[in-house]
Parts: sequence; C-alpha cells; structure tokens
Amino acid sequence: MSVVQRKAMLKAEGFFPHKKNAKGTTIIYSRKHPTAKFVRVVIDSGIDSKTNKVIKNAGIKLCFVNRQKSWREITTEISTDNKGLVNLIGKVEAAEKFVKTCKHCKAKKFTAKTGNVVCSNACWTAWGGKKKSANTTKKSSQKTTAQKKAATPKKKKSQKVTPKSQRTYPLKKKPQKKPQKKPQKIVAEILPGDLVSVEGVVLGEIHTDYTGSILGVVMKVDKYGAVEVNWTANTSDLPAWDMPFTNHYTGGSGYSYRFKVLSRSIEWTVAA
Ligand SMILES: [Zn+2]
Repeated sequence: MSVVQRKAMLKAEGFFPHKKNAKGTTIIYSRKHPTAKFVRVVIDSGIDSKTNKVIKNAGIKLCFVNRQKSWREITTEISTDNKGLVNLIGKVEAAEKFVKTCKHCKAKKFTAKTGNVVCSNACWTAWGGKKKSANTTKKSSQKTTAQKKAATPKKKKSQKVTPKSQRTYPLKKKPQKKPQKKPQKIVAEILPGDLVSVEGVVLGEIHTDYTGSILGVVMKVDKYGAVEVNWTANTSDLPAWDMPFTNHYTGGSGYSYRFKVLSRSIEWTVAA
C-alpha cells in the first residue's frame, strides 16, 4: 500500500500529523470534527514514523478533549485500507451523534478503564463536593412547609403478604447432576444509526472480534428486535448466514454471532 497515497489522502481530508505517538511507532493524525465541539477525529495512519512505511491499516476513532485537555476515546477505533479511508472518515464522524452526552456538563461520555461509561470531564467529582456543602449549610435552616412536602419521600408500595394457605413452597430440590447452563435469551439495545461490527461469542466470552473487517450501519430495528443493517464492508470469512440480524441471541455452549456497536457503549444482558 502506498505511503504517498495515504499521506495525500489524509492531507486532502484536512488532517495534520502529530509529533508524538505515546502508544506506538506509527504517525497519528487528527483534525476537528466538522460539527461537534471539543471532538477530534483521530487517525492512526499505520505509517511507521522511522521507516516511513505502511505497516498496517489506518485506524479511525473519535476523541473528546476534556476540560483538562485530556483526550478521551469516545468511539472504538475502526481500521481500513486506503480504498475505504475517506468513506470511513465520514462514517465515524456521523457516529458522533450516537455517543452519549453527560446531562450535567454536556461533555461526551466514554468507557473508562473500569468499564463504566462516564463523563469525559469527570464532572461528578465537582458537583459531588458542591452538593455536600450545600446540604450541610441547609441543615440548620428551617424548612418551609412546601420544602418539607417535597422532601418527604413517596410512600413505598406496601409489600403484599400472601396468606400462609396460599403460599407455594418450592419442591424438594433435586441435586443437580451437571452444572448445565440453561439457554438464556441475551439482549442489547441496538438503535438505528449505530455503527456496528460483529463479535462471535461462546459461553459469554468473545472468541472473535470482527472490528476492522466487518462494518455496517443499523437502518431499522422493529418491535420484535429484528435489525436491518446496511453492511458496507465484510472482508472477513464470516458467511452471510452467520451475520447477526436480531438484537438478541441464545446464550449457551454454541457459537453465536452478535452485533458489536462501535459508536457507543452497549450492554448485553439476560432477558427477564
Ligand atoms: Zn459531565
């Protein structure tokens, strides 16, 4: 793959090279997101800074520049060859509007090392302190009746007590022969506009991640959970019939292929 071509494409798209790459030897490029404030489009060029050779596909992601000027990854990096580069830049940029926003400070949220999706500004640390001090000063002041009313917690629904005669008791538990896993329905919220790839799972563990080789955009999700996807790239060996098409699958010992949402964080959970 041509270095000259890739550099020319990045330049034409308005990207500038960074002086440093803290995580590797390749040259990082970035520029502002066309519409979203404090969001930067970041591209790992895949070009080695020492040899000036293409050593891998280019990887594209979005970062939010927080108040401390730290860059938070708000989308997963997706990679592409030169041919798909310009197209993918547009797709990743469009994914910005599906990244959740902090309702307190309007910053974009990102997935922290803990796995939690949190505000890029970590603004809760600031308002947590404020709230505390506000509470302690209020303590001594007399409350008006209106305030008191508002402060009174809503009555909890009283728990129903089943009369003894109507209670059902579990039958004697049989000792389980095998720790057999019951098939469970695993569900996630997939939404139109989500930038998706595919991941293969077995017994709740991801065995194959197709990020970089499969890419699509969710067009429609119906009330039954059927997901219509506009697949734009599939360079993997995964056949069409194994591609996911619902927002749920049956967990268990078999192999399942489910959606991997790249444009925001989702959670697969056991359906009630
Ligand atoms: Zn915030």
